[in-house]
Amino acid sequence: SWSNKVRIVPVQKCQEPDICEVLSKIHGKKILPCSLNARTQLQAQDSESQTILVQLNTHNASDLNYGPGDHVGIFPVNCPDFVEAILERLDATQGPSRDQVICTEVFTELGPNETWTKHEKLPICTLRMAFSYFLDITTPPSQKILQMFATQASCDTDKKRLELLAMDSVAYEKWRTNLSPNILQVLEQFSSLKVPPSLLLTQLPYMQQRYYSISSSPVMHIGELHATIAVVKFRTQEGAGPVHGVCSSWLNRCALGTVVPCFIKTAPNFHLPENPSLPVIMIGRGIGIAPFRSFWQERLQEIDLKTISSKTKHCFGQMILYFGCKTVKENFYGKELAEMKESGVLSNYHVAYSKEPDLPKCYVQDIILQNAASIYEMIDNGAHVYIAGDMSMAHIVTRTLEVALCEHGGMYSKAAADRVTELRDVNRFHEDIFGV
Ligand code: FAD
Repeated sequence: SWSNKVRIVPVQKCQEPDICEVLSKIHGKKILPCSLNARTQLQAQDSESQTILVQLNTHNASDLNYGPGDHVGIFPVNCPDFVEAILERLDATQGPSRDQVICTEVFTELGPNETWTKHEKLPICTLRMAFSYFLDITTPPSQKILQMFATQASCDTDKKRLELLAMDSVAYEKWRTNLSPNILQVLEQFSSLKVPPSLLLTQLPYMQQRYYSISSSPVMHIGELHATIAVVKFRTQEGAGPVHGVCSSWLNRCALGTVVPCFIKTAPNFHLPENPSLPVIMIGRGIGIAPFRSFWQERLQEIDLKTISSKTKHCFGQMILYFGCKTVKENFYGKELAEMKESGVLSNYHVAYSKEPDLPKCYVQDIILQNAASIYEMIDNGAHVYIAGDMSMAHIVTRTLEVALCEHGGMYSKAAADRVTELRDVNRFHEDIFGV
Protein backbone atom coordinates (compact mmCIF):
# COMPACT_ATOMS: atom_id res chain seq x y z
CA SER A 1 0.00 0.00 0.00
CA TRP A 2 0.92 3.61 -0.41
CA SER A 3 1.69 4.11 3.31
CA ASN A 4 4.48 1.53 3.28
CA LYS A 5 6.20 3.32 0.46
CA VAL A 6 6.56 6.79 1.96
CA ARG A 7 8.21 7.84 5.18
CA ILE A 8 9.26 10.99 6.94
CA VAL A 9 12.70 11.19 8.50
CA PRO A 10 13.94 13.94 10.78
CA VAL A 11 16.93 15.89 9.57
CA GLN A 12 19.38 17.48 11.94
CA LYS A 13 20.81 20.89 11.25
CA CYS A 14 19.88 22.15 7.88
CA GLN A 15 19.88 25.58 6.35
CA GLU A 16 16.41 26.98 5.83
CA PRO A 17 15.60 26.78 2.12
CA ASP A 18 15.20 29.95 0.09
CA ILE A 19 11.51 30.23 -0.77
CA CYS A 20 12.00 31.76 -4.24
CA GLU A 21 14.65 29.21 -5.16
CA VAL A 22 12.36 26.35 -4.17
CA LEU A 23 9.40 27.86 -6.02
CA SER A 24 11.58 28.39 -9.11
CA LYS A 25 12.60 24.75 -9.05
CA ILE A 26 9.05 23.49 -8.49
CA HIS A 27 7.49 25.62 -11.20
CA GLY A 28 10.36 25.56 -13.67
CA LYS A 29 10.73 29.32 -14.02
CA LYS A 30 12.64 32.13 -12.40
CA ILE A 31 10.70 33.41 -9.41
CA LEU A 32 12.28 36.39 -7.73
CA PRO A 33 11.87 38.10 -4.39
CA CYS A 34 10.13 41.46 -4.46
CA SER A 35 9.35 43.18 -1.20
CA LEU A 36 6.27 45.06 -0.10
CA ASN A 37 7.13 48.77 -0.20
CA ALA A 38 3.68 50.17 0.51
CA ARG A 39 0.02 49.26 0.62
CA THR A 40 -2.83 51.71 0.24
CA GLN A 41 -6.48 51.04 0.99
CA LEU A 42 -8.24 52.45 -2.05
CA GLN A 43 -11.77 52.36 -0.64
CA ALA A 44 -13.29 54.02 2.41
CA GLN A 45 -13.63 51.78 5.47
CA ASP A 46 -17.41 51.66 5.23
CA SER A 47 -17.35 50.31 1.66
CA GLU A 48 -18.87 46.92 1.02
CA SER A 49 -15.72 45.73 -0.70
CA GLN A 50 -12.03 46.32 -0.24
CA THR A 51 -9.42 47.13 -2.86
CA ILE A 52 -5.73 47.72 -2.26
CA LEU A 53 -2.88 49.25 -4.21
CA VAL A 54 0.21 47.17 -3.57
CA GLN A 55 3.62 48.66 -4.37
CA LEU A 56 6.36 46.07 -4.72
CA ASN A 57 10.08 46.74 -4.79
CA THR A 58 11.63 44.69 -7.60
CA HIS A 59 15.18 45.47 -6.44
CA ASN A 60 15.81 46.34 -10.11
CA ALA A 61 16.04 42.67 -11.07
CA SER A 62 16.22 42.57 -14.86
CA ASP A 63 14.04 39.46 -14.94
CA LEU A 64 11.29 41.59 -13.46
CA ASN A 65 11.38 44.17 -16.23
CA TYR A 66 7.90 44.73 -17.56
CA GLY A 67 5.89 46.89 -19.90
CA PRO A 68 2.49 48.50 -19.35
CA GLY A 69 -0.19 45.85 -19.89
CA ASP A 70 1.92 42.92 -18.61
CA HIS A 71 0.96 40.67 -15.71
CA VAL A 72 2.78 39.78 -12.54
CA GLY A 73 2.48 36.27 -11.11
CA ILE A 74 2.59 36.19 -7.31
CA PHE A 75 3.05 33.18 -5.03
CA PRO A 76 1.22 33.82 -1.76
CA VAL A 77 1.70 32.45 1.74
CA ASN A 78 -1.12 30.58 3.45
CA CYS A 79 -2.74 32.14 6.49
CA PRO A 80 -0.68 31.18 9.61
CA ASP A 81 -3.77 30.52 11.77
CA PHE A 82 -5.05 28.14 9.16
CA VAL A 83 -1.71 26.34 8.86
CA GLU A 84 -1.61 26.12 12.65
CA ALA A 85 -5.08 24.57 12.76
CA ILE A 86 -4.04 21.90 10.27
CA LEU A 87 -0.84 21.14 12.20
CA GLU A 88 -2.92 20.94 15.34
CA ARG A 89 -5.26 18.44 13.71
CA LEU A 90 -2.32 16.39 12.42
CA ASP A 91 -0.96 16.08 15.94
CA ALA A 92 -3.56 13.36 16.37
CA THR A 93 -1.29 11.22 14.26
CA GLN A 94 2.21 10.46 15.39
CA GLY A 95 3.96 12.64 12.91
CA PRO A 96 6.96 14.87 13.32
CA SER A 97 6.62 18.02 15.38
CA ARG A 98 5.64 21.00 13.32
CA ASP A 99 9.05 22.66 13.59
CA GLN A 100 11.19 19.59 13.07
CA VAL A 101 13.09 19.76 9.78
CA ILE A 102 12.09 16.70 7.81
CA CYS A 103 12.76 14.86 4.62
CA THR A 104 10.06 12.81 2.88
CA GLU A 105 11.40 9.61 1.40
CA VAL A 106 10.02 7.02 -0.99
CA PHE A 107 10.77 3.37 -1.12
CA THR A 108 12.26 2.43 -4.46
CA GLU A 109 13.13 -0.91 -5.87
CA LEU A 110 15.92 -0.69 -8.37
CA GLY A 111 16.44 -4.21 -9.64
CA PRO A 112 17.54 -6.25 -6.67
CA ASN A 113 18.31 -3.11 -4.63
CA GLU A 114 15.72 -1.61 -2.35
CA THR A 115 16.40 1.84 -1.08
CA TRP A 116 14.77 4.89 0.42
CA THR A 117 15.33 8.01 -1.64
CA LYS A 118 14.26 11.60 -1.13
CA HIS A 119 10.81 12.34 -2.49
CA GLU A 120 11.48 15.11 -4.98
CA LYS A 121 8.27 17.05 -4.52
CA LEU A 122 9.38 19.26 -1.63
CA PRO A 123 12.63 20.56 -0.18
CA ILE A 124 13.93 19.46 3.19
CA CYS A 125 11.96 21.75 5.47
CA THR A 126 9.50 21.78 8.35
CA LEU A 127 5.85 20.77 8.03
CA ARG A 128 4.92 24.34 8.84
CA MET A 129 7.01 25.65 5.96
CA ALA A 130 5.63 23.11 3.49
CA PHE A 131 2.03 24.02 4.36
CA SER A 132 2.73 27.75 4.46
CA TYR A 133 4.58 28.25 1.19
CA PHE A 134 4.49 25.28 -1.11
CA LEU A 135 1.22 23.38 -0.86
CA ASP A 136 -2.34 24.27 -1.76
CA ILE A 137 -4.35 23.64 1.41
CA THR A 138 -7.46 25.61 0.47
CA THR A 139 -8.73 24.06 -2.77
CA PRO A 140 -11.20 21.19 -2.12
CA PRO A 141 -9.24 17.93 -2.29
CA SER A 142 -9.44 15.85 -5.46
CA GLN A 143 -11.23 12.51 -5.70
CA LYS A 144 -7.83 10.81 -5.76
CA ILE A 145 -6.93 12.31 -2.40
CA LEU A 146 -10.34 11.37 -0.96
CA GLN A 147 -9.70 7.81 -2.07
CA MET A 148 -6.49 7.82 -0.08
CA PHE A 149 -8.24 9.44 2.87
CA ALA A 150 -10.80 6.62 2.80
CA THR A 151 -8.03 4.17 3.66
CA GLN A 152 -7.17 6.24 6.73
CA ALA A 153 -10.65 6.52 8.26
CA SER A 154 -11.30 4.31 11.27
CA CYS A 155 -15.08 4.65 11.34
CA ASP A 156 -17.11 2.79 8.73
CA THR A 157 -19.51 5.65 8.00
CA ASP A 158 -16.61 7.99 7.24
CA LYS A 159 -14.89 5.37 5.12
CA LYS A 160 -18.03 4.65 3.09
CA ARG A 161 -18.84 8.31 2.52
CA LEU A 162 -15.26 9.07 1.47
CA GLU A 163 -15.28 6.11 -0.89
CA LEU A 164 -18.53 7.26 -2.39
CA LEU A 165 -17.20 10.78 -2.95
CA ALA A 166 -14.03 9.34 -4.45
CA MET A 167 -15.89 7.09 -6.87
CA ASP A 168 -19.09 8.94 -7.72
CA SER A 169 -18.34 12.09 -9.71
CA VAL A 170 -21.86 13.49 -9.39
CA ALA A 171 -21.83 13.17 -5.59
CA TYR A 172 -18.30 14.59 -5.51
CA GLU A 173 -19.19 17.66 -7.61
CA LYS A 174 -22.24 18.35 -5.47
CA TRP A 175 -20.22 18.08 -2.25
CA ARG A 176 -17.43 20.22 -3.70
CA THR A 177 -19.63 23.03 -4.96
CA ASN A 178 -21.92 23.11 -1.94
CA LEU A 179 -19.29 23.01 0.77
CA SER A 180 -16.17 24.13 -1.07
CA PRO A 181 -14.23 22.41 1.74
CA ASN A 182 -10.56 23.03 2.36
CA ILE A 183 -8.30 20.34 3.82
CA LEU A 184 -9.09 21.30 7.40
CA GLN A 185 -12.84 21.18 6.84
CA VAL A 186 -12.48 17.71 5.31
CA LEU A 187 -10.52 16.54 8.35
CA GLU A 188 -13.28 18.01 10.54
CA GLN A 189 -16.13 16.55 8.52
CA PHE A 190 -14.65 13.06 8.76
CA SER A 191 -13.57 13.06 12.35
CA SER A 192 -12.24 9.49 12.42
CA LEU A 193 -9.65 10.38 9.80
CA LYS A 194 -6.09 10.11 10.95
CA VAL A 195 -4.11 11.39 8.04
CA PRO A 196 -0.37 10.87 8.19
CA PRO A 197 1.50 14.08 7.25
CA SER A 198 3.40 12.15 4.59
CA LEU A 199 0.13 11.66 2.71
CA LEU A 200 -0.53 15.40 2.63
CA LEU A 201 3.08 16.24 1.80
CA THR A 202 3.19 13.90 -1.15
CA GLN A 203 -0.39 14.23 -2.45
CA LEU A 204 -1.55 17.82 -2.00
CA PRO A 205 -1.17 19.96 -5.11
CA TYR A 206 1.37 22.75 -5.21
CA MET A 207 0.37 26.26 -4.28
CA GLN A 208 -0.29 28.11 -7.55
CA GLN A 209 0.56 31.68 -8.50
CA ARG A 210 -2.11 34.37 -8.81
CA TYR A 211 -1.86 36.78 -11.72
CA TYR A 212 -2.37 40.52 -11.45
CA SER A 213 -2.50 43.13 -14.20
CA ILE A 214 0.37 45.49 -13.51
CA SER A 215 -0.88 48.94 -12.51
CA SER A 216 2.26 51.04 -12.89
CA SER A 217 4.60 52.36 -15.52
CA PRO A 218 8.19 51.14 -15.13
CA VAL A 219 9.49 54.51 -16.29
CA MET A 220 7.48 56.38 -13.71
CA HIS A 221 8.23 53.98 -10.85
CA ILE A 222 11.75 52.76 -11.42
CA GLY A 223 12.41 49.54 -9.49
CA GLU A 224 8.76 49.23 -8.53
CA LEU A 225 5.75 47.32 -9.70
CA HIS A 226 2.21 48.12 -8.60
CA ALA A 227 -0.91 45.98 -8.53
CA THR A 228 -4.53 46.92 -7.85
CA ILE A 229 -6.08 44.07 -5.95
CA ALA A 230 -9.66 43.32 -4.94
CA VAL A 231 -9.59 41.61 -1.55
CA VAL A 232 -11.56 38.41 -2.13
CA LYS A 233 -14.09 37.40 0.53
CA PHE A 234 -16.85 34.94 -0.08
CA ARG A 235 -19.17 32.50 1.62
CA THR A 236 -19.53 28.95 0.47
CA GLN A 237 -23.04 28.02 -0.60
CA GLU A 238 -23.82 26.41 2.71
CA GLY A 239 -22.95 29.61 4.49
CA ALA A 240 -19.57 28.80 6.01
CA GLY A 241 -17.21 31.68 6.08
CA PRO A 242 -16.49 34.30 5.19
CA VAL A 243 -13.65 32.61 3.37
CA HIS A 244 -10.75 34.80 2.40
CA GLY A 245 -8.90 34.57 -0.88
CA VAL A 246 -5.38 33.32 -0.15
CA CYS A 247 -3.30 35.81 -2.12
CA SER A 248 -5.41 38.93 -1.90
CA SER A 249 -5.88 38.61 1.85
CA TRP A 250 -2.20 37.81 2.39
CA LEU A 251 -1.19 40.96 0.50
CA ASN A 252 -3.75 42.85 2.55
CA ARG A 253 -2.31 41.76 5.89
CA CYS A 254 1.43 41.05 5.46
CA ALA A 255 3.90 43.48 7.00
CA LEU A 256 5.76 46.06 4.94
CA GLY A 257 9.06 44.57 3.79
CA THR A 258 7.59 41.07 3.42
CA VAL A 259 9.16 39.07 0.59
CA VAL A 260 6.68 38.57 -2.25
CA PRO A 261 7.78 35.88 -4.76
CA CYS A 262 7.08 37.20 -8.27
CA PHE A 263 7.60 36.66 -11.96
CA ILE A 264 6.49 38.62 -15.01
CA LYS A 265 4.19 37.22 -17.64
CA THR A 266 4.27 39.42 -20.68
CA ALA A 267 1.00 40.17 -22.42
CA PRO A 268 2.15 41.11 -25.93
CA ASN A 269 -1.50 41.33 -27.02
CA PHE A 270 -2.27 43.98 -24.45
CA HIS A 271 0.38 46.60 -25.11
CA LEU A 272 -0.06 50.25 -26.10
CA PRO A 273 0.11 50.83 -29.88
CA GLU A 274 3.65 51.24 -31.16
CA ASN A 275 2.59 54.40 -32.92
CA PRO A 276 1.67 56.84 -30.12
CA SER A 277 -0.37 59.03 -32.45
CA LEU A 278 -3.06 56.37 -32.77
CA PRO A 279 -6.11 56.89 -30.55
CA VAL A 280 -6.57 54.60 -27.56
CA ILE A 281 -9.97 53.56 -26.20
CA MET A 282 -9.87 51.85 -22.79
CA ILE A 283 -12.96 50.09 -21.47
CA GLY A 284 -13.25 48.34 -18.13
CA ARG A 285 -15.39 47.49 -15.16
CA GLY A 286 -14.44 47.19 -11.49
CA ILE A 287 -10.95 45.83 -10.95
CA GLY A 288 -10.61 45.92 -14.75
CA ILE A 289 -9.26 49.44 -14.35
CA ALA A 290 -6.00 47.90 -13.04
CA PRO A 291 -3.99 47.66 -16.30
CA PHE A 292 -5.15 51.07 -17.54
CA ARG A 293 -3.28 52.81 -14.73
CA SER A 294 -0.07 51.47 -16.29
CA PHE A 295 -1.17 52.96 -19.61
CA TRP A 296 -1.96 56.46 -18.39
CA GLN A 297 1.17 56.58 -16.21
CA GLU A 298 3.31 55.50 -19.17
CA ARG A 299 1.72 58.14 -21.39
CA LEU A 300 2.29 60.81 -18.75
CA GLN A 301 6.00 59.93 -18.69
CA GLU A 302 6.21 59.93 -22.49
CA ILE A 303 4.53 63.32 -22.72
CA ASP A 304 6.84 64.76 -20.07
CA LEU A 305 9.95 63.42 -21.76
CA LYS A 306 8.86 64.60 -25.17
CA THR A 307 8.07 68.10 -23.95
CA ILE A 308 11.44 68.37 -22.25
CA SER A 309 13.48 66.99 -25.12
CA SER A 310 11.94 68.62 -28.18
CA LYS A 311 9.84 71.49 -26.87
CA THR A 312 7.53 70.74 -29.76
CA LYS A 313 3.88 70.03 -29.28
CA HIS A 314 3.48 66.38 -28.59
CA CYS A 315 1.92 64.14 -31.14
CA PHE A 316 -0.07 61.72 -29.04
CA GLY A 317 -3.38 60.31 -30.11
CA GLN A 318 -6.48 60.72 -27.99
CA MET A 319 -6.71 58.46 -24.95
CA ILE A 320 -10.19 57.89 -23.56
CA LEU A 321 -11.41 55.74 -20.68
CA TYR A 322 -14.89 54.24 -20.24
CA PHE A 323 -15.17 52.81 -16.76
CA GLY A 324 -18.01 51.18 -14.85
CA CYS A 325 -18.28 50.50 -11.12
CA LYS A 326 -21.04 50.22 -8.53
CA THR A 327 -20.68 53.38 -6.49
CA VAL A 328 -18.56 56.52 -6.29
CA LYS A 329 -16.58 54.81 -3.50
CA GLU A 330 -15.49 52.16 -5.95
CA ASN A 331 -14.18 54.72 -8.40
CA PHE A 332 -10.97 54.60 -6.41
CA TYR A 333 -8.74 56.16 -9.05
CA GLY A 334 -11.18 59.06 -9.51
CA LYS A 335 -8.70 61.67 -8.29
CA GLU A 336 -5.90 60.31 -10.46
CA LEU A 337 -8.25 60.29 -13.47
CA ALA A 338 -9.06 63.96 -12.93
CA GLU A 339 -5.33 64.76 -12.70
CA MET A 340 -4.65 62.81 -15.90
CA LYS A 341 -7.31 64.77 -17.73
CA GLU A 342 -5.92 67.99 -16.32
CA SER A 343 -2.42 67.17 -17.55
CA GLY A 344 -3.67 66.19 -21.00
CA VAL A 345 -2.86 62.48 -20.72
CA LEU A 346 -6.50 61.50 -20.92
CA SER A 347 -8.46 63.41 -23.51
CA ASN A 348 -11.51 62.42 -21.50
CA TYR A 349 -12.98 59.78 -19.25
CA HIS A 350 -16.52 58.61 -18.53
CA VAL A 351 -17.64 56.73 -15.43
CA ALA A 352 -20.87 54.71 -15.15
CA TYR A 353 -22.26 53.95 -11.68
CA SER A 354 -24.66 51.04 -11.38
CA LYS A 355 -25.54 51.29 -7.68
CA GLU A 356 -24.97 54.87 -6.60
CA PRO A 357 -28.07 55.72 -4.52
CA ASP A 358 -28.77 59.16 -6.00
CA LEU A 359 -28.01 58.35 -9.61
CA PRO A 360 -29.92 56.36 -12.22
CA LYS A 361 -28.46 52.90 -12.85
CA CYS A 362 -25.81 53.16 -15.53
CA TYR A 363 -23.48 50.49 -16.87
CA VAL A 364 -20.30 50.78 -18.87
CA GLN A 365 -22.13 49.63 -22.00
CA ASP A 366 -24.59 52.51 -21.53
CA ILE A 367 -21.84 55.14 -21.66
CA ILE A 368 -20.41 53.41 -24.70
CA LEU A 369 -23.75 53.74 -26.47
CA GLN A 370 -24.06 57.37 -25.39
CA ASN A 371 -20.66 58.05 -26.99
CA ALA A 372 -21.08 55.70 -29.93
CA ALA A 373 -20.50 58.41 -32.55
CA SER A 374 -17.16 59.47 -31.13
CA ILE A 375 -16.08 55.86 -30.57
CA TYR A 376 -16.95 55.04 -34.16
CA GLU A 377 -14.92 57.99 -35.38
CA MET A 378 -11.92 57.01 -33.27
CA ILE A 379 -12.02 53.44 -34.55
CA ASP A 380 -12.29 54.80 -38.06
CA ASN A 381 -9.17 56.85 -37.35
CA GLY A 382 -7.16 53.79 -36.39
CA ALA A 383 -7.92 53.55 -32.66
CA HIS A 384 -6.82 50.59 -30.59
CA VAL A 385 -9.55 49.25 -28.32
CA TYR A 386 -8.68 47.74 -24.92
CA ILE A 387 -11.16 45.86 -22.76
CA ALA A 388 -10.23 44.74 -19.24
CA GLY A 389 -12.19 42.98 -16.52
CA ASP A 390 -14.60 40.12 -16.26
CA MET A 391 -15.80 37.90 -19.06
CA SER A 392 -19.47 38.88 -19.01
CA MET A 393 -18.65 42.59 -19.22
CA ALA A 394 -16.25 41.97 -22.10
CA HIS A 395 -19.00 40.12 -23.92
CA ILE A 396 -21.61 42.85 -23.45
CA VAL A 397 -19.13 45.58 -24.33
CA THR A 398 -18.10 43.84 -27.54
CA ARG A 399 -21.77 43.49 -28.57
CA THR A 400 -22.33 47.16 -27.73
CA LEU A 401 -19.34 48.22 -29.83
CA GLU A 402 -20.87 46.28 -32.70
CA VAL A 403 -24.11 48.23 -32.20
CA ALA A 404 -22.08 51.47 -32.32
CA LEU A 405 -20.51 50.35 -35.60
CA CYS A 406 -23.94 49.52 -37.02
CA GLU A 407 -25.48 52.82 -36.01
CA HIS A 408 -22.70 55.10 -37.13
CA GLY A 409 -21.01 53.12 -39.86
CA GLY A 410 -24.22 52.13 -41.59
CA MET A 411 -23.34 48.45 -41.20
CA TYR A 412 -25.49 45.39 -40.72
CA SER A 413 -24.81 43.41 -37.57
CA LYS A 414 -22.93 40.69 -39.45
CA ALA A 415 -20.62 43.28 -40.99
CA ALA A 416 -20.10 44.91 -37.58
CA ALA A 417 -19.16 41.55 -36.04
CA ASP A 418 -16.78 40.97 -38.95
CA ARG A 419 -15.26 44.40 -38.38
CA VAL A 420 -14.50 43.49 -34.75
CA THR A 421 -12.92 40.21 -35.89
CA GLU A 422 -10.86 42.18 -38.37
CA LEU A 423 -9.73 44.59 -35.63
CA ARG A 424 -8.74 41.59 -33.53
CA ASP A 425 -6.81 40.10 -36.45
CA VAL A 426 -4.80 43.26 -37.01
CA ASN A 427 -4.11 43.52 -33.28
CA ARG A 428 -6.23 46.61 -32.64
CA PHE A 429 -8.76 44.93 -30.34
CA HIS A 430 -7.10 43.89 -27.09
CA GLU A 431 -8.56 42.04 -24.11
CA ASP A 432 -7.33 41.40 -20.56
CA ILE A 433 -10.01 39.12 -19.19
CA PHE A 434 -10.11 37.64 -15.70
CA GLY A 435 -13.05 36.42 -13.68
CA VAL A 436 -16.42 35.24 -14.97
P1 FAD B 1 -8.24 32.32 -3.88
O1 FAD B 1 -7.74 31.79 -2.61
O2 FAD B 1 -7.64 31.87 -5.14
O3 FAD B 1 -9.78 32.17 -3.84
C1 FAD B 1 -10.48 32.28 -4.97
C2 FAD B 1 -11.17 30.95 -4.95
O4 FAD B 1 -12.32 31.13 -4.28
C3 FAD B 1 -11.44 30.44 -6.29
O5 FAD B 1 -10.88 29.17 -6.41
C4 FAD B 1 -12.92 30.34 -6.36
O6 FAD B 1 -13.29 29.04 -6.73
C5 FAD B 1 -13.35 30.62 -4.98
N1 FAD B 1 -14.33 31.66 -4.93
C6 FAD B 1 -14.14 32.93 -5.29
N2 FAD B 1 -15.27 33.62 -5.10
C7 FAD B 1 -16.17 32.74 -4.61
C8 FAD B 1 -17.52 32.83 -4.22
N3 FAD B 1 -18.18 33.98 -4.30
N4 FAD B 1 -18.13 31.72 -3.75
C9 FAD B 1 -17.47 30.55 -3.65
N5 FAD B 1 -16.21 30.41 -4.03
C10 FAD B 1 -15.57 31.49 -4.49
N6 FAD B 1 -7.36 40.28 -9.57
C11 FAD B 1 -7.25 41.54 -9.10
O7 FAD B 1 -7.70 41.82 -8.00
N7 FAD B 1 -6.60 42.51 -9.84
C12 FAD B 1 -6.06 42.27 -11.05
O8 FAD B 1 -5.48 43.15 -11.67
C13 FAD B 1 -6.18 40.94 -11.57
N8 FAD B 1 -5.66 40.63 -12.77
C14 FAD B 1 -5.74 39.36 -13.23
C15 FAD B 1 -5.19 39.05 -14.48
C16 FAD B 1 -5.26 37.75 -14.95
C17 FAD B 1 -4.65 37.42 -16.29
C18 FAD B 1 -5.89 36.74 -14.17
C19 FAD B 1 -5.97 35.33 -14.66
C20 FAD B 1 -6.43 37.05 -12.95
C21 FAD B 1 -6.38 38.35 -12.46
N9 FAD B 1 -6.91 38.66 -11.21
C22 FAD B 1 -6.83 39.95 -10.76
C23 FAD B 1 -7.49 37.63 -10.31
C24 FAD B 1 -6.41 37.11 -9.35
O9 FAD B 1 -5.44 36.38 -10.10
C25 FAD B 1 -6.91 36.17 -8.25
O10 FAD B 1 -7.70 35.17 -8.83
C26 FAD B 1 -7.71 36.86 -7.16
O11 FAD B 1 -6.93 37.84 -6.53
C27 FAD B 1 -8.14 35.83 -6.11
O12 FAD B 1 -7.01 35.21 -5.57
P2 FAD B 1 -6.96 34.82 -4.04
O13 FAD B 1 -5.74 34.00 -3.83
O14 FAD B 1 -7.15 36.01 -3.18
O15 FAD B 1 -8.23 33.92 -3.87
